[in-house]
Amino acid sequence: MWRYTFLVAILLGSLFVYGYMYYTAWALCNVPISYAIGQVDDEFDFSRDRFTEAVSSAVMVWEASTGRKLFKKNENDKNAVQINLVFDDRQAYVEAEIGYRERLDATESVSQSLRKHYQRLVTEYENLRDTHELLLANYNEEVREFNELIEFYNQEGGVSDETYRSLQTEQTRLANERESLRVMERDINQLVKSINELGEQGNLLIETHNQGVGEYNKNFGESRKFTQGEYLGSVINIYTFTSEQELVLVLAHELGHALGIEHVPGRESIMYELLGEQPEDLSLSEYDMEAFVSVCVELPWWDRLVRKIFSFILT
Ligand SMILES: [Zn+2]
Repeated sequence: MWRYTFLVAILLGSLFVYGYMYYTAWALCNVPISYAIGQVDDEFDFSRDRFTEAVSSAVMVWEASTGRKLFKKNENDKNAVQINLVFDDRQAYVEAEIGYRERLDATESVSQSLRKHYQRLVTEYENLRDTHELLLANYNEEVREFNELIEFYNQEGGVSDETYRSLQTEQTRLANERESLRVMERDINQLVKSINELGEQGNLLIETHNQGVGEYNKNFGESRKFTQGEYLGSVINIYTFTSEQELVLVLAHELGHALGIEHVPGRESIMYELLGEQPEDLSLSEYDMEAFVSVCVELPWWDRLVRKIFSFILT
């Protein structure tokens, strides 16, 4: 008799624990979670309406993927989760980051146009050098022929006045040709000088740019943890965001915590602990979905019956 009572007590006790666990899980998920937009700080230059819209988009990410009504905007429910946009020094940090990135982009574009200019000068130099080479070879050949002619006439023992004049004309023409070749050489040297200067400038710029990139990576490069927002049971606070897209992602992440979901693997997951590699078109990853199902599982009818009985006993 005593043994029988003892067994019944154990059975009832474990049913109670089992049922209570289901009841709490059910309470988390089967009722849409009420939320209200709380404080939206002016310093963000982001209107209350836009913030409300961003929250709706974050809600949609969960509801579209799961096909369930999970959140309900209800400003009158005093138990509603308050969603706030709170300004503090974290946003100042984010703005510094944006400024830094813009400066880096600027050096990048200067260095690109410098490289183009450099390439143009190099091409110009190569063309001029090839032309000069041809003209010089041609000139040397002409000089050689002229000297041969002079030698020939010297051996003949003299020339007529007419031949003398034509030889003089040829000599002047060759001297002019030599002079224009010299001008060309000066141009080529000037071009080489410009190219070297530009190359040095380019190297300096690249060095500065690389230094900037190094500094940027040191300061801002690490994947950021989801510290831009937090879920505190009855409150979601958002502190920083760099774009509307990112705001929706941070909101969706904190709403996931509000559903009772912890961090999951997969860098593309909304519930991954780091921010940065989630797809632009936000949706739940298979890990997010798995976590959601384990928290908000649809139970077979006998489980629902057990939970109903226990919810009845508990209320
Ligand atoms: Zn988190």
